[in-house]
Amino acid sequence: MSRKEFHLTLEASEQIAPDVKHFTFRYEEGGGFEFIPGQFITLHIPTDEKILRRSYSIANKTHVANNKIEFAASYVPAGIASEFLFALKPGDRVTATGPFGRLILREEMPERYILVATGTGVTPYRTMLAELEQRFKLRPCFKVILVFGVRKPEDLLYRDEFLEFAEKYPWFEFHAYYSRVKPQEALNFEHTGYV
Ligand SMILES: Cc1cc2nc3c(=O)[nH]c(=O)nc-3n(C[C@H](O)[C@H](O)[C@H](O)COP(=O)(O)OP(=O)(O)OC[C@H]3O[C@@H](n4cnc5c(N)ncnc54)[C@H](O)[C@@H]3O)c2cc1C
Repeated sequence: MSRKEFHLTLEASEQIAPDVKHFTFRYEEGGGFEFIPGQFITLHIPTDEKILRRSYSIANKTHVANNKIEFAASYVPAGIASEFLFALKPGDRVTATGPFGRLILREEMPERYILVATGTGVTPYRTMLAELEQRFKLRPCFKVILVFGVRKPEDLLYRDEFLEFAEKYPWFEFHAYYSRVKPQEALNFEHTGYV
């Protein structure tokens, strides 16, 4: 798996929550970008003094190697990478390294996974859905519970994808926890509190 520098070109960015953008970059090194669901890449952010490094979890919907790298970044006011990323336009380029990280599904399968995340911390789990789908087929009764904490319902990244997955696979449970609001008519996956 390559850890040398590579170049990315922004193809599209989309606001997916009040403070969060989903970025889709084209991997410019030819061939597909290989990674394990749950891993992250490190962007090299140019500043006047030096190159700063900031990491982002890969959020691709599938880990089958292709020439796209996606991630979701939340905006930190006056944050160096945040200002850089949120000002990027399609066609702009950035250098990166990776993939890195061990927040991955191991080969051996436990009876149950409890996946916990807040905010953009959920993106590695989005990428794991395709792999979990395979594992549900291999091992009936294998259970996965995703517990996702955000402030408000509009912060719930990839909500519909997680709900559809839970609908399709009864062995997958999706629970959302809102820390700042109590919905008037909460749906059965919605709760109030912290994860
Ligand atoms: C392994 C790894 C994976 C990561 N994956 C993601 C990801 O998928 N999406 C994502 O958005 N970020 C992710 N991060 C965080 C990301 O790398 C940056 O730290 C973040 O984008 C802020 O960088 P910045 O340069 O904009 O802010 P900086 O210039 O570094 O910070 C500016 C100010 O904001 C504060 N600050 C920094 N980060 C936060 C924060 N998250 N909330 C509140 N205040 C903060 C700092 O303390 C500082 O005072 C990840 C970090 C790691 C280590």
